[in-house]
Amino acid sequence: METKKVYFIEGDGVGPEVMRVARLVLDRAVQQAYAGQKQLLWEEVLAGEKARQKTGHSLPKESLMTLREEASVALKGPLTTPVGSGFRSLNVALRQMFDLFACIRPIRYFPGVVSPLKCPELVDMVVFRENTEDVYAGIEWEAKSPEAEKVIAFLRKELGIEIDPAAALGLKPMTESGSKRLVRKAIEYGLKKNRRSVTLVHKGNIMKYTEGGFRRWGYELAEREFGGRCVREEQAAPGEERLVIKDRIADNMFQQALINPRDYDLIATSNLNGDYLSDALAAQVGGLGLAPGANIGDSLALFEATHGTAPDIAGRDRVNPSSLILSGGMLLEHLGWDEAAAITVASVEKAIREGRVTADLARGMPGSQECGCREFGDCVCGCM
Ligand code: NAD
Repeated sequence: METKKVYFIEGDGVGPEVMRVARLVLDRAVQQAYAGQKQLLWEEVLAGEKARQKTGHSLPKESLMTLREEASVALKGPLTTPVGSGFRSLNVALRQMFDLFACIRPIRYFPGVVSPLKCPELVDMVVFRENTEDVYAGIEWEAKSPEAEKVIAFLRKELGIEIDPAAALGLKPMTESGSKRLVRKAIEYGLKKNRRSVTLVHKGNIMKYTEGGFRRWGYELAEREFGGRCVREEQAAPGEERLVIKDRIADNMFQQALINPRDYDLIATSNLNGDYLSDALAAQVGGLGLAPGANIGDSLALFEATHGTAPDIAGRDRVNPSSLILSGGMLLEHLGWDEAAAITVASVEKAIREGRVTADLARGMPGSQECGCREFGDCVCGCM
């Protein structure tokens, strides 16, 4: 029998509820696909509130060692980040520590789900978001702190730049290598999966060297490394066979995604743009509860729900586990266990179509019957 060890971080808030159901569904999908010839072996890694209670640390050294030395794939529930104070985001810390440079979020419509769009079925995009740079690099100084005052004084003295001395400051580092490796991932995916286009989304009209750099480096990479297999939009023929590379300014992209979703396929973008855009796209097809995600680096691939800890519904069996289940589907695909991945996605789709869904979906689905998180998991298993 072929086995694969999958490390999991339960997560805070609704994390344990969605993780329990997701593991159940994924095990069932593997069983269905390979009739006992393959099996996932689950091993827990402590992080977040559970880790803090057991060890005094939110991200214990042992957990980091395990992820660094043993894990190649992991499934993660959401982790709490206090706003404005306390520790830095564990999610961001994990992404940076393990250099999980590509955040991949496929966004598609599941029939039956209520969406604010007239034709949500036209949305079928995958967002590749750069995950380690940009204003999310975590380089910030509090207003009036000695560090902020020092930087402001340096800028005035060395570069003649005047900044309000009372300003809080943040830096936005973006590199050629960081941008290129992200765009490379998107193009490789596009070629492998036979997709139509990659759109570079940026705000280069305003931030010329950072966001503008992302656009320029993206085009350069496409031409140098994938020359014959990619073509720029303006040179593409009608019915173009090659992967089309185009770019859009971020604010335009938000309206394009609403007005002309069928014109967009894969999206490669910087960290902050990607964060906003992937949540907005998820909302277009019915909300965050359904959107899966992965954070991928060269040695570790971390698959996670895109929603947060949902403290308002935690412990009440009301959470929709689909996001983590579908993230698990991406994990199976990443392992090359495509049959089990396909069963996972198809059974979530079927369960939703049958209309027994969690409260977040039931609210807008006429004729549906509300069920709890556990029961929804059972329905998904029953649809295999
Ligand atoms: P949230 O995603 O936790 O919740 C926003 C709203 O959506 C809430 O009303 C919640 O009940 C609802 N919701 C979210 N997921 C749902 C699901 N699967 N099913 C049904 N309803 C769902 O966002 P928030 O309230 O802004 O953040 C809460 C905490 O989660 C914060 O500490 C934040 O930092 C953290 N967070 C973590 C991650 C992560 O671990 N990747 C991502 C986002 C937020």
